Amino acid sequence: MKITSAEFVISNSRVDMCPQTGLPEYAFIGRSNVGKSSLINMLTNHSKLAMTSSTPGKTLLVNHFLINKEWYLVDLPGYGYAQRGKVMMEKIKKLIESYVLEREEMTCLFVLIDSRLEPQKIDLAFIEWLGENGVPFAIVFTKADKLNGSKLKANVNAFLEKLKEQWEELPPYFISSSEKKTGRDEILNYIEEINKS
Ligand code: GDP
Repeated sequence: MKITSAEFVISNSRVDMCPQTGLPEYAFIGRSNVGKSSLINMLTNHSKLAMTSSTPGKTLLVNHFLINKEWYLVDLPGYGYAQRGKVMMEKIKKLIESYVLEREEMTCLFVLIDSRLEPQKIDLAFIEWLGENGVPFAIVFTKADKLNGSKLKANVNAFLEKLKEQWEELPPYFISSSEKKTGRDEILNYIEEINKS
């Protein structure tokens, strides 16, 4: 898919305030610092479309970007911000839950996993929760350029093995590097295929 336009539309702390156009939405989520903003900027060919985690406030909201005037890319708050304190964590959790479970336009949730790390409990628990609730999702392993080929493969396989303990079938997954612009075509083509079907 060629990106011909990408524009910021709205930031929300409430799901019922999200756009009412009925266009399909592809949302991105992951732990803080997983590389979500960099991935969104890489996918859309914009150096600053998504605010990085260093931008206060923005990362606590549901951010809608209209792509090619056909679909929304949705930047969700990161999960697992222990340093933000219990009350804020609870607020973010509720916002994520209400978007993911209630938003009918949500077509696929891309869950970002830092490829440098061993499988993390918080990511596995989040994915398990998605499965329990029948949420359509795919996985994106980020920062692939930071590892050599064999270590990358080992980490990806270790994560997939953990998933196999939970699921009979693996979800679609992508390996990306925002630095090297890898995984871009695969993710955008996947979205295009779903949009066409
Ligand atoms: P967010 O908090 O998930 O939005 O993460 P950011 O996109 O702000 O990225 C967090 C840090 O990881 C920043 O210092 C980025 O430059 C770095 N980063 C993100 N993606 C990549 C990548 O693909 N390769 C490398 N080498 N660094 C990355």
